[in-house]
Amino acid sequence: MAYVPGTAWQGKYPHHDEPLPNVCSASSRADAVQELVSLLSPLLPGQPFSGSRQLQAEEHREILSAIQNLVPTLSRDDRVFATFHDGQVHDPLGGGSYAFEKDLVGPLLTALKDDEIHSLTREDARHRAHFDGTITRPIIIHAGAQPNNSPHVGTLIVFCYAFAVAREIRRRLLEKEARSGRRMPPVSVQITFVDTAPVNGYDKKVNGVKYQTAYRDVNGALAVNLPDYYQVMHFLSAWADIPFTTSYQSQFFSGPYMPELIRYFAECRRTLGKQLSPKYGTVALRAACPVPDCRLAEKHGVNNEYSPLMKFDDDNMEAGDDNDWIITFHCPTHGPHYISTDNPADLARLEANAPARNLLRSMSQLMDTETHHVRVTGADYAGMYQETFLYRPLADWAYKSTGGLGIPRTPHILYAPLIMDWSGAKLSKSLYVRKDGYQAMKLLGTDSLCSYAQMKEYFGDNGTKGLGRLWREVTEWMDDPKKLFRAFSIEYLRGIIIDGERWN
Ligand SMILES: [Zn+2]
Repeated sequence: MAYVPGTAWQGKYPHHDEPLPNVCSASSRADAVQELVSLLSPLLPGQPFSGSRQLQAEEHREILSAIQNLVPTLSRDDRVFATFHDGQVHDPLGGGSYAFEKDLVGPLLTALKDDEIHSLTREDARHRAHFDGTITRPIIIHAGAQPNNSPHVGTLIVFCYAFAVAREIRRRLLEKEARSGRRMPPVSVQITFVDTAPVNGYDKKVNGVKYQTAYRDVNGALAVNLPDYYQVMHFLSAWADIPFTTSYQSQFFSGPYMPELIRYFAECRRTLGKQLSPKYGTVALRAACPVPDCRLAEKHGVNNEYSPLMKFDDDNMEAGDDNDWIITFHCPTHGPHYISTDNPADLARLEANAPARNLLRSMSQLMDTETHHVRVTGADYAGMYQETFLYRPLADWAYKSTGGLGIPRTPHILYAPLIMDWSGAKLSKSLYVRKDGYQAMKLLGTDSLCSYAQMKEYFGDNGTKGLGRLWREVTEWMDDPKKLFRAFSIEYLRGIIIDGERWN
């Protein structure tokens, strides 16, 4: 890469893992400084071309190019490049932003109402004429988090979105209540913690098979970051005036529909394995080794064995009526251990990877005809991920299952905007968790956007300032829903959260 004085910077931006090009030698920096100084000198006070004279476009461009050339030469240790923008914020319409430009919550409430109509029993259907289209079931807005760090800005946006949409739904229901005089159902938020996420440094590979240890199985691991999550939930709940509950994986796997769903997973494991894991072809159901100091769980379920549960009946051993299953897991040190699908305490031990959890969650929520479930998650799960790992297996299930759907219903999922770095990649939690993932953000003063803990440290308060600004921003997206169907850059958020300013 060559530095060419007086021209736009000609080098390519190196990949994150590539060594820094030699652009910060004393001579290249001196050249770059000289170039910029010579361009700026005529603008100094007392110079013939100083004052408020409008720069010609070519001059302007030359100065910007000289700045771009200078910036990477400033430090050998901190890799930084300059880019410029015009500060204009566009919210172009297209796809979701066009379809839901004026309203997001109205169509959602219509869909929930239709779910109630679709799940009426034949008996109820006779009285459908009396059904006035009012939602009668409680509504829960779900979001989730892996508590392996203080809440990352993407997680904070998902949480804000969940409370903001709950507040808007409740506002509309209360309006209806005032008009109709009929009591409307409650609206709440539920945050589910994936306390089965793996702890860094506790993973292991034996004979090519990957094993991991979950947060809930490492002493004290959960306690590190959970207080930050609860603090965020308490603030958002107070600001939205919406109650919240929390849930953990053992509660998720103890749900009323789980025995039937795990039986289905065991029975259809070959098809589901191919659908849920293009890499391994297996269903990643896990259980930690029960030996207290071990707690290893096999990551991808490649060694799991599934066998029908045999029951003694009239002196004969035969498969039970409920088609229950024994799933055997293997610890590399302590050998096999198993769960039985007819034992709730066994099921509470289960863990699943993200696609399997996603599918099980949607299935159990679809089977629940007492409560409405709406989920908020990051937009990186929208599109092909859901079409491949959720809707395709759901269509199979609806076709095969006798106790499942039987009626055409699909999950209600809202996708929260992602926050992008300069290259358009999402601000990644795993990169942030990795040491020095976002070194440059420290230099640029935007690292307080990385996590709630850093935000608190930056503002020197209890979290209300930064989170409050983010909450106000997300509620504005809710009021102007086309903004919920795009991404936002770190630079945009910097203005909103760190500087407390609007871009427009
Ligand atoms: Zn073990």
